Amino acid sequence: MNIPSNRLDLLFRAHQKEYEKKALEVLRSGCYILGPELAAFETELAAFLGGGECVGLACGLDSLRLAFRVLGIGRGDEVIVQGNTYIATVMGISMNDATPVFIEPDDRFAMTAREIERHITPKTKAILVTHLYGMMTPMDEITALCEKYGLKLVEDCAQALGASEKGKKAGTFGDVGCFSFYPTKNLGAFGDGGAVWVNNAALAAEFRVLRNYGCVDKYHNDVVGLNSRLDELQAGLLRVRLKYLAEYDAKKQAMASYYTEHIRNPLITLPRPHPGTHPVWHQYVIRCEKRDFLAEFLKEKGIGTAVHYPVPPYLSEAYAYLNLKKGAFPYSEQLADTVLSLPFYYGMTREEQDFVVLQMNRFH
Ligand SMILES: *Cc1c(COP(=O)(O)O)cnc(C)c1O
Repeated sequence: MNIPSNRLDLLFRAHQKEYEKKALEVLRSGCYILGPELAAFETELAAFLGGGECVGLACGLDSLRLAFRVLGIGRGDEVIVQGNTYIATVMGISMNDATPVFIEPDDRFAMTAREIERHITPKTKAILVTHLYGMMTPMDEITALCEKYGLKLVEDCAQALGASEKGKKAGTFGDVGCFSFYPTKNLGAFGDGGAVWVNNAALAAEFRVLRNYGCVDKYHNDVVGLNSRLDELQAGLLRVRLKYLAEYDAKKQAMASYYTEHIRNPLITLPRPHPGTHPVWHQYVIRCEKRDFLAEFLKEKGIGTAVHYPVPPYLSEAYAYLNLKKGAFPYSEQLADTVLSLPFYYGMTREEQDFVVLQMNRFH
């Protein structure tokens, strides 16, 4: 059996006719940027998140980068972030000349209030929570910390659109929720895309100005902005996909439960969402001390896997200037050496999952 680590074509084919109809509609409309599809998508996404306002952007990185800019966080300011996140999370901070302050996550890949509080200094201006792999970070204590110390709260929900805690959606707990519509993400576009969620009309207006060269009124530019607009074609296609997101989520819940119930191997640690949270399973990430052997073993059987992520951001060349050496955050580094993402995609069959389970249980 040949099972790739991911497949996106099945997701397209599930509602192919609707995507094709929408694409033709947009192509024939003559309106391709900042039009009715984007406006409708922003309204529908905000409704999905339970209220507030959304602003569509060109990608997830821009949502993070603009979040800190709009919140006035820059040179000399510190932002606390987990050491096991994707490097784009950190770039959102450093592109504003602010300083990322890394902390260790817990054994469920998430930030904890206790570890955050130990790293708060007079320079700390914000906390950036990443709901990694679609697993929801418990937010009660973190939001309480933000209030106690007067800190801004930004959520990187690039992997977690639809995750929730006690019915409240990831991205709506703080000042800005950041989303990516990169094709592999929970709500994937057919290209790049991103968005922010805010609960404040004035902040939303600032994002709208910044995504369009700082343009306040045609040819009147107040600030130097970006070109970071979610185009009509992507917005239209995302509207189709958003309608089915709950259905995709339900399928993935069932698939995750199946792995969790059937993979039994003392060498393998399965992912455990925090109690009381609803994850969306962007990835199904296990840990294994012999990770590279396991990946090779599965590959020989025709099973593809991926590592999210093999290098902690602070050890990448891009952040050499931070002078954080190997050993700085041992647990984050241990995760980088042991995590493995199993094949996990919409349309994966029970037979395919059974085959993965069989081989996982055989590994020794
Ligand atoms: C994908 C991703 C991003 C960046 O999103 P892009 O749309 O690719 O720019 C940021 N943070 C995390 C955690 C991601 O997974």
